Parts: sequence; C-alpha cells; structure tokens
Amino acid sequence: MDTHVPATSLGFPRMGPHRELKRALEGYWSGRDSADELERGASDLRRQRWNRQRDLGLDHIPSNDFSLYDHVLDTAVMVGAVPDRYRASDDVDLATYFAMARGGDFRGNAVAPLEMTKWFDTNYHFIVPELSAGQRFTYADTKAVAEFREARRIGITTRPVLLGPISFLTLAKQRGSHASVTASLPDLVGVYEAVLADLARAGAQWVQIDEPALCLDLDREIVDAFLPTYERLVHSAPGVEILVATYFSGPRANLPTALTLPVAALHLDLVREPHQLDPALAGAPESLALSLGVVDGRNVWRADLLSALTRLEHARDHIGSERLLVAPSCSVLHMPLDLELEVHLDPEVRPWLAFAEQRLEEVVLLARALNEGRAAVEDLLIANADIRAERARSPRTHDRAVRERLAADQPALEARASVYSERRPKQAKRLELPLLPTTTIGSFPQTTEVRSLRSRYRLGELDLPQYETGMRALIETTVRLQEAVGLDVLVHGEFERNDMVEYFGEHLSGVVVSENGWVQSYGSRCVKPPLIYGDVSRPNPITTGWTSFAQSLTERPVKGMLTGPVTILQWSLVRDDQPREQTCRQIAFAIRDEVADLEAAGIGVVQLDEPALREGLPLQRADWPDYLRWAVSAFRVASSGVADETQVHTHMCYAQVADIIDSIAAFDADVISIEASRSNMDLLDTFVEFRYPNAIGPGVWDIHSPRVPEVAEIVTLLDQALAVLSPEQLWVNPDCGLKTRGWAEVEPALRNLVDAARIVRERVTRP
Ligand code: GLN
Ligand code: ZN
Repeated sequence: MDTHVPATSLGFPRMGPHRELKRALEGYWSGRDSADELERGASDLRRQRWNRQRDLGLDHIPSNDFSLYDHVLDTAVMVGAVPDRYRASDDVDLATYFAMARGGDFRGNAVAPLEMTKWFDTNYHFIVPELSAGQRFTYADTKAVAEFREARRIGITTRPVLLGPISFLTLAKQRGSHASVTASLPDLVGVYEAVLADLARAGAQWVQIDEPALCLDLDREIVDAFLPTYERLVHSAPGVEILVATYFSGPRANLPTALTLPVAALHLDLVREPHQLDPALAGAPESLALSLGVVDGRNVWRADLLSALTRLEHARDHIGSERLLVAPSCSVLHMPLDLELEVHLDPEVRPWLAFAEQRLEEVVLLARALNEGRAAVEDLLIANADIRAERARSPRTHDRAVRERLAADQPALEARASVYSERRPKQAKRLELPLLPTTTIGSFPQTTEVRSLRSRYRLGELDLPQYETGMRALIETTVRLQEAVGLDVLVHGEFERNDMVEYFGEHLSGVVVSENGWVQSYGSRCVKPPLIYGDVSRPNPITTGWTSFAQSLTERPVKGMLTGPVTILQWSLVRDDQPREQTCRQIAFAIRDEVADLEAAGIGVVQLDEPALREGLPLQRADWPDYLRWAVSAFRVASSGVADETQVHTHMCYAQVADIIDSIAAFDADVISIEASRSNMDLLDTFVEFRYPNAIGPGVWDIHSPRVPEVAEIVTLLDQALAVLSPEQLWVNPDCGLKTRGWAEVEPALRNLVDAARIVRERVTRP
C-alpha cells in the first residue's frame, strides 16, 4: 500500500514568466510568425511549465491545462462541437480554432466569434460552447493525449486535466430547440470514454476531471446524471485513477452525490468551504481518496501552514495517508506566476506574498510534513509563522484614521439627501439636458499614440510637464470631437489609464501594484490585479485634474469617471485577514472622497463603473443576498455623499440583469448604462415586469464589433426601449467604453447615435 501522500497541482498559469504566450499568439495573429513558430513557442512553454513543477517537487503535475486560448474552447473542439459557420473541413485547424475564439476573416468570410463569459466568480473569460439542435459529439481532437505524450518524452508522467462532461454541458449554450443537459449527455460521454481509453493506452495513471458545476445549484436531474456518467467513465479506462475536482465553493447539497462517485479521488476546496471537511471525511467511502485544497489557489497571501497542516493531519487520522492528496484549493491559473520576478515590490509587503510557484512550494512542504513528520520541516514552519505574525503586527496593514472612520460609519452615509423624484428636477435645472440625452461610457480610443505617451513617461523619456501637455492635447481633441458630433454629456477620454482598476490601485494607500504579476483574462490578454494589503484610503485626488481640465474647455457638462468599489475589490488580489465586505467598504470611502472632490471642483455628473458586480456573485444562490447587501451598500457609500443637483451615473457591461435587478435599482444611481445592443435589447424584457425607478441607457451601439451602426438601426433600438421605458427615463449611449475602437469608427458611429436620438426625441416631443 502506498502511504506516500502526493503533493499535487491542478493547473498552472499558461502565459510564461514574460508573457511569452502572448507574444507568440500575437506574432501569429499579425501574420509575422508561422503556425510552426507558434507551435514551437507553445511547446517550449509547456516543457518549461512541466519542468518547473517537477523541480518544485510535485508528484502530480497537470497536462492539458495549457491552452492556446481557453480550455473550454479546447474541450468544445475535443468533442467536435464546432458550429457550422466555422466548419470548412473535418479537422479543426488553427484558423478554425482562432475564428471560434476571435472571429474575423475566415476563408474569405467575416465571422463573429463565439460568445465569451466569466469563468464562475473569476475575471477569466471562457469561450461559451455553442451546441446546435440535435448536436452530435465526436472525438475530434487529440490534444489531451498529445500533451500527455509530449510530457512523457521529457520523462514526466503527467495527470491530464479534462473539463468534465457535465460542467461542459452546463456552461454551453444551446441553439435552436432546447436539448437538456441530460439529453445531450450520453452521446458526449461516449467521446470522453474514447479520450480516457486513449489516455490509458498512452500510460496515464491519473486523470483529473474538473466538475466545478457540482458547486452550483443544479436541477435534480443533472445531479442524478453524475453517478451513471462516472460509472461509464471509470469503466472506459480500467487502471486509470480518476480524480473529480470541485472548486470555488463546496458541493454542499451535491456532496452526497460527489462522495458516491465510483472514482479514485474527489478534490475539495477547503479555502472557500472549510466546513465541508468533516462531512466529507465522515461520508467518503473507503474506496475514495480526498484531495484537500488547503492553500489558496485564488489569492496571493502566504498560507498559514501550521493550521493547514493541522487540518491535513486531522484528515489523515480519519482516512489514513493512503487516501490523502495535498493540493491548492483550485488550479493556480488565476494567480500571478512567480514572486521572484518582482524586483521593486514594496520590501515589507513582499515576504507576505506567495504567487503560483510559491503556492505550489507550500503544497510540497505540507506533503513533506505529512510524509516525513513535522520535525523535517520545522524551520520552514517557524519561518512561515514568523512572516504571518509580522504581517499581522505590521502598522502597514492598519491605518488608524481609516479604522476610526469606519467605526463611526453612519447609516445616513448610505443614502442621498433626497429621493430620486426630488433630485431629478434639480439636476434637470442644473444640467439643462434635452429629453433622451446622449453620452458615452468614458474611454475613447487607446491608440498607439496614447499608449506610447504613457509608456515614454513611465520610462522617464518624457518629464511630467511634457506628459501633461500630451495628455491635455488628447483631452482637448476628444472634447472638441464630442462637441462637434453633438453629444450632451461629455467625458475626458480616460487616456491616462492603463486599466480601470490598476490605475486606481496605483493611487490608493494600502494597495501596491506588481511589475510582473500578470493574470490571464482571456486569450492573450492579461491584467495586473493590484494587491490590497492594508487599510485603503485615498491620500490625494486622483482624477480631478484631468476632469476639471476637460470641463474648462466646454460649456457642456463633463462626466467625472471613476471605478466603483465593488469592481476595484473584485479585480484586485484582496487581503485575507479581514472580511472582503470590510475592505470593500474602505474602498467605498476612498471613492466617496474622490466623488466629493470632483463635486467641489464643479463637476456636475459623476459615473462609478461597476462592471464586476455580477461576476462577484457567489456560485450558490444561498450566498447571493449577503454579497448583494454589502456590495449595494458599498456603492451607496461611495456615491451618495453629493448634493441633489449632482447626477450620479453607473455602468455595467452585461445584459443578464434579471435576477439582480432589484439590487441594481437599490444602487439608486440617477442614471445607469447597461450593455444591450448585442443581445437585441433582450435586457428590456426585465423592465416589462420590473418598473425601474431611475433613468437608464440601454446600449444602442455594440462597441465589441468594428461595424458602424446606422441611424435607422439605432432608432429601432430606441423605439424598442420606449416600449417599456418612458421618454423621461431613457438615455442614449453605446454599450461600453470605446477604448478598443478606432477613431475611424468612433466618429461616424457617435454621429449616427446623436442623429438617432434627435429623430426619436423630436417624435416623442411633438404633441
Ligand atoms: N469607463 C470605462 C470605459 O469606458 C468602463 C469600462 C467597463 O465597463 N469595463 O472604458
Ligand atoms: Zn462596460
């Protein structure tokens, strides 16, 4: 009997230490590099990742967790779920793969990409598989076994990772007549049987099948499908140990089902859901091993190793070491790669951190402690406890002024002075806006010129006055253009921002920004989430200079642009030594100060973007009310400190708001803009039932596409909106910011938008 407890990894970052994958992909997309060159780059990266994990001392090293774009897309391709519009031949070549991911020119035709959406509660976007009515599945792509063999050639027997069939179907979108998950499942499982048999033949000993859907609220019939599905899968690959992985929460009501699966092991996320350990230990049959995710795969603070070890020892006492695997809570894909790459990071904060590689070192250390005894790693445990104690004691994490302000926190700070119906006429008087006012969401094209201005300043090639002159010129051009096309509420363009969260992270106290802490967001795109290590405050105004400058150029109102507290929290790596709710409230006060300064500088309209509100929703509905309660109150703290005459806007970029519409209404923003045009204004259905009280601008221009919408199309969309909203409520704006668009499209599209607003406005005002 093997009593060695393995140290395991469930998945590893893909980009490489210097975002080599990004460079390789973009080289290929631009036509500079050949497919062979891309493949060579990708293969180097895979080898590097495997060797690195072996050097760290891991026993189970994943494969097939790598992807050229996204692992859900890879799964769709593996099972032959390629919609007809991308199908030129039977095999899925790179052109087909990237057409599905990114759209564009595909064999002479322009195709739209598949939809993208957030992976559970992360900021990682996956490609939503699209299944046709009566979709059949085939074993169409052998990437999983090819990568296994590739690792074998360098002497590493990996644990291949597959996205499980039930999670795949749960995440997929059905086109046409609706086939249920359970109806599609038997055919799909046939493909997985073939993949597993292939992996078994190639010599795989373990296969990891991710079923995060087990942590969702599932219909009974889907829950009941797990057992027969896994019976089939286990039989298809005798001799292969299957590990089913759950993460980002616990299976809760689905735990009994998870525990009865006839597989070798079940992985549990004990960081998100520590309380599931005891029921799992008590309920697991003797045939089932448990992979315990005791250190955080989603965050960057050094683990409390002693308490993790204590839990592991407790588990071992119950089920024995032969039934135990040590793991991070989930794949470390969503963490920055390596702390060693940080040269200039704040030296006091740095030792508190663990990036992906350091997290896996913790896993290895914990397994060693189990296998060789605590004494073998005593020095390391003591060093870890010292670092944790230093962090807890550090004055850097505690800001007395912030604490006192929150302690004195009054409920009155969460409400505007007057209700909307009283604010509305005062704002109308101050701003003198027409019916159906037009505006944009904030950013204007981030051209090479804009990016190079920022980077030359960062590199010291430009001094501050030169940089400011450049920025002012950009702002002035943008203001003049908005006046020329006839927009009613203008913006300064957000040219100074690299990213809507990183920018604020750079200016808040209690927050540091890393140099190389990139995390994949989608495809080749990465973000650098700020690290919130201490109490948050805003020492100096951040945006008033640029906004006031823009306002000084024009008679029309300029809207001050801020990122809301929930989005700053959600897109950062957040301290784990106090509840997220509390950190969010601190950010809310910091933003409240910024709002107050904008108001004091004479800015009459302020927008707080909250695009991350929805993705922050916990996996299970039972946890929604608590999250929404503190998220709404944080937004209200941030936004309600202004006079009735000051108009507060917010923006969200997703149309699926039906189930959280009352929380959105509870924001009590005077105006909200929401993405809608891409989904043909499906959003409006929500307002048939729900009488949204304040003003609202459903997006009427899909800025995700380079196409310029025609006046008539926009008029049609506005008419649809007027079927459920009153003319007094309706604003006219694009779906989202324009930073990814070019000026060549922006100018005509905005002209059309303004023209369409004018046409509809005349129609509704004519007696
Ligand atoms: N104000 C931001 C912009 O225009 C909003 C971006 C977003 O919603 N993600 O770019
Ligand atoms: Zn948006």
